Amino acid sequence: MHETNEKTYSELAREAVGNEELHAAIRMIQDRIGRGTRQLWKTEISPELRARAKAMRMRTLEHLDVVLATLAENIRKQGGHVYFARTAEDASRYCLEVARKNEVKRVVKGKSMTSAEIGVDPLLEKDGIEVVETDLGEYILQLAGEAPSHIIAPCIHMNRRQIGRLFQEKLGIPYSEDPPTLTKAARKALREKLLTADMGLTGCNLACAETGQVALVSNEGNIRMATTMPKVHVALMGMERVTSTLAEHETLLRLLTRGAAVQKISTYVSFVGGPRQPGEPDGPEEFHLVIIDNGRTDILADPRFREVLACIRCGGCLNICPVYGRIGGHAYNATYTGPIGSVVMPLLGGVNDHADLCRGETLCGACKDMCPVNNDLPRMLSELRHMLAYGDETWDVTPVDKTEAVAFKAWAAAMSSRKAYDLLVKSGRLLQAPFVRKGVLKHGVGPLGKWTADRDFPPIAKQTFAERWNTIHAKRLKEDGDA
Ligand code: SF4
Repeated sequence: MHETNEKTYSELAREAVGNEELHAAIRMIQDRIGRGTRQLWKTEISPELRARAKAMRMRTLEHLDVVLATLAENIRKQGGHVYFARTAEDASRYCLEVARKNEVKRVVKGKSMTSAEIGVDPLLEKDGIEVVETDLGEYILQLAGEAPSHIIAPCIHMNRRQIGRLFQEKLGIPYSEDPPTLTKAARKALREKLLTADMGLTGCNLACAETGQVALVSNEGNIRMATTMPKVHVALMGMERVTSTLAEHETLLRLLTRGAAVQKISTYVSFVGGPRQPGEPDGPEEFHLVIIDNGRTDILADPRFREVLACIRCGGCLNICPVYGRIGGHAYNATYTGPIGSVVMPLLGGVNDHADLCRGETLCGACKDMCPVNNDLPRMLSELRHMLAYGDETWDVTPVDKTEAVAFKAWAAAMSSRKAYDLLVKSGRLLQAPFVRKGVLKHGVGPLGKWTADRDFPPIAKQTFAERWNTIHAKRLKEDGDA
């Protein structure tokens, strides 16, 4: 699973918070796509449709074993191969075996986050196989040696001047920051790779069990070429990315492209269900679908988190998230970033190992409002934080910050006793006095210091509501008595 930077989430986030170029780039996508999608949810797509879509996803998840068996059966009937991979290593090894069997020298890829999740590229490259990204954004990142920072717009953090300099250095073209000129240069370089590749490696946006097909959406046409020109096509699919029927598939695809790019439908939608059939002009000689578990079965088994498997990876939650808007994708240092990444990465890669991600989001709820399938990411983040505070045997989580659990227990005790609450307020008022500056608590001590380092913490009021009430009420009673 992609995690390359040795710095912590906090360190990377702190650096990103001061990066104005990054903010400008993300503002572009959040203003354009984020706002556009929100508008669609208000005008064109009814809340009922999104609720129905969620129900469809949850129904499929309840019968996932049957739905996947139907998908596999239908693909095999069409001459395709289906492999169920338990782990990331298992999935990568299968891809390598297919490549070796077919004496593959060059692999062309369609955009696939799942390929990054399982780490297949380095394994193929170690075997002497050239791996070339063909999605423009992914290609730019491959030249730059960087990881994607957004699920849908992988190089959103780069501006055209940076890309111009990169192309000048790596492709040997004169410097230009003109997007059509840069696109043309990439297209020329990629066309040659696509024409001579032996294997296409793609993801899968959504599979349909009823028809036995995987659907791939793109706006560049690269996926169409990567799935039809090489003699072998391998599609990687997380085991949850399947719909039961064609009618459900159509509804979810409509929501996916709207959530991802405010498009009624993307420029290209490729449906692939097997190798080239007699009489067809193009298509691979071999088609393989790798259905990947890699921890998803554990998520499926836990009612607290099952809902996250309803995600259709539209990236919409990134386009609205205030945290993502300030720190970008690289600060997460993970394959999946933003609010969805903050829930999925701990569950796939270990909650303790991704504790920062669980605690980095604000729980403002914007991601839930944006999600085409109404995924309640804030609720799941709260569940993860609860696990981190109190531990959890099912997920093998050890409590990381006992002070937090103790503080909340003490708070709960104080809130349930009038006397304890009054004592807390009175002593708190005395203790806070040296730290109050201009109406806010500054430079708190102990665990509170971490809070006040970056946030304003309101001090306890001179008079609490209860104290004011008592004073005013007593005064009124007295006045009434006097009258
Ligand atoms: S959680 Fe919802 S908004 Fe976020 S990527 Fe998944 S489907 Fe899209």
